[in-house]
Amino acid sequence: MKTSRRQFLMLGASLGSSLVLSNGAFADTANTLSESDPAAQAVGYKEDASKVDKAKFPSYVAGQTCASCSLFQGKATDAYGGCTLFGTKQVAARGWCSSYSTM
Ligand code: SF4
Repeated sequence: MKTSRRQFLMLGASLGSSLVLSNGAFADTANTLSESDPAAQAVGYKEDASKVDKAKFPSYVAGQTCASCSLFQGKATDAYGGCTLFGTKQVAARGWCSSYSTM
């Protein structure tokens, strides 16, 4: 009987932490800039800098990412962070757009 109660409590704790994790992931996704957003398309934003159309955006230099852009508002370890261009939307640290700036 004690084992069943312990298993029940462990299952509850596991489910609770799963819900917290999934809520956090959902919140991030809901606030993430989409490549199909007209503002993102206007500057050629890609979530993965390696997929930038280099013919269309010759200013792209391999190795540039949002994480090293001066407009990125996230921390160095963040997968997503704010960008002064896109208000409350989060951009991918490994993304890129033609407004990339090193200043
Ligand atoms: S301005 Fe910089 S941080 Fe913002 S999307 Fe473009 S490259 Fe990324």
